[in-house]
Amino acid sequence: MMNDGRPFGLYIDGRFQPASTGRTIRIENPKDRSHLADVAEGDETDIDLAIDAAERAGKIWAATPGAVRGDIMHRAGELLAKELPDLVTIEVDQIGRARREMTAQLGRLPEWFRYFGAVARTHEDTVPPFGGKFLNYTRRVPLGVVGHVTPWNHPLLILTKKIAPSMAAGNTMVVKPSELAPITPLLLGDIFKEAGVPDGVYNVVPGYGATAGKALTSSKRIKKIDLTGGTETGKMVASIAGANLTKVAAELGGKAAVIMFDDTPIERGVAAALFASFIATGQTCVQGARLLVQRSVHDAVVAELVRRTNMIRIGNPQDMATQMGPLVSARQRELTERYVKIGLEEGATLAAGGKRPNGKLFENGYYHQPTIFTNVTGSMRIAQEEIFGPVVVVIPFDTEEEAIALSNGTEFGLATSIWTRDVTRAHRVAHRLESGIVWINDHHRIDPCSPWGGFKMSGIGRENGLIAYEEYTQIQNVIVNLSDEPFDWYADDGQEKRYS
Ligand code: NDP
Repeated sequence: MMNDGRPFGLYIDGRFQPASTGRTIRIENPKDRSHLADVAEGDETDIDLAIDAAERAGKIWAATPGAVRGDIMHRAGELLAKELPDLVTIEVDQIGRARREMTAQLGRLPEWFRYFGAVARTHEDTVPPFGGKFLNYTRRVPLGVVGHVTPWNHPLLILTKKIAPSMAAGNTMVVKPSELAPITPLLLGDIFKEAGVPDGVYNVVPGYGATAGKALTSSKRIKKIDLTGGTETGKMVASIAGANLTKVAAELGGKAAVIMFDDTPIERGVAAALFASFIATGQTCVQGARLLVQRSVHDAVVAELVRRTNMIRIGNPQDMATQMGPLVSARQRELTERYVKIGLEEGATLAAGGKRPNGKLFENGYYHQPTIFTNVTGSMRIAQEEIFGPVVVVIPFDTEEEAIALSNGTEFGLATSIWTRDVTRAHRVAHRLESGIVWINDHHRIDPCSPWGGFKMSGIGRENGLIAYEEYTQIQNVIVNLSDEPFDWYADDGQEKRYS
């Protein structure tokens, strides 16, 4: 699916086109900094053109029956499934994530189109009882043009979570992907076109946050902004959108805890912690960045965790045997290294990793070893701030109460996992967590039907599930008077009259 070395254009109104300035962005492969592709760099003018196209297409798409939209989305899911091997290759090249992970992640994307296609076909409106001789019903109508701003860490998954409900609900859209990973979002355009999505429904304008992103999020013509990114970006975007009374959904940062009680078998708990902490080289919003371990098993868990962490195979991310690829960029590796330094300065013990791996293979890429800190307290910066790299801190606890306090003790509230064989304790703890997502005896699980989003500084709104579809609509209430009896409020006819 890669093109022949020519720059990828912006995808507007069903066709690729150069940016109005003619400028391009160089996309590099983080495994060795080699040149991957050039992509047109959009700015305000291009965002305006894309919104024009989306407004025109909205007249057709919003009027298309839900069942037809659903069929088209099913077709898009099938076509996407066929293109997956190529898309996986490009995603791995763009962000450096291990192929075995990307294959597993992207393999699930068609489910989002099937699920939301089915919702478009089957979603029912309501008939709230109004009292009196009235028929009263609600209709869900599309919002109009929606702006989707997405990050680099799961380029297609996060985009799909946003556009599937948005499209199913009859909206049209302008996407501003991360400038580090815009290729796969652009390629989706062709898949939608082949599936029968009308031109202009799906538009992609790669560019920088400060220019294209800002133009999109501050446009008065955009009816909803749906952003995934860092918490500071979320606050900035929400304040700009607020000035226009534009709806905002924001999936933001996290510092997820893995709470491990002492009845968890050590091997199972360690396998869980590895999965939670080091998937995506730690660059995921629900990364198990804090491992809270009950003190009686703490030393045994740490010993096994360190042993298994040192065995993680770092390497060329395209190789199916590789278990950890590079970080996405120089900036992201610098952040990781900065936090390793901060952890040491705070007095934590480096129990594993902490450095760039040695060897020729790693010389030019943004590699970093999976890293574990022990002797950490809940107030240290490495236990509070989102690092977004392969760094996990281990903190012991004695009681259930203490585990809950530690888990809730950050500004974030996205996700938590609880590991225990005690079913009552599991639910009791879950109900006291300030966390939008709680897994019991698992981590990282997601499904198109299941609401995804955070409490506190981790975001506003939810992705996935019926709630996501509904949040992409507005409600119209139609109240029908079924009575033919004459009604004249101002007539002095002695009738008792209903006012409200
Ligand atoms: P950023 O916040 O840096 O960027 C996210 C997106 O917003 C990018 O497309 C970016 O463009 C754009 N952007 C930046 N500034 C502005 C602006 N002023 N106006 C409009 N758009 C802007 O996040 P990252 O890409 O670095 O992604 C990592 C972050 O995403 C982490 O904090 C992580 O926790 C969060 N995340 C949350 C998830 C969740 O489900 N809650 C899931 C995955 C990630 P550009 O890149 O060009 O600057």
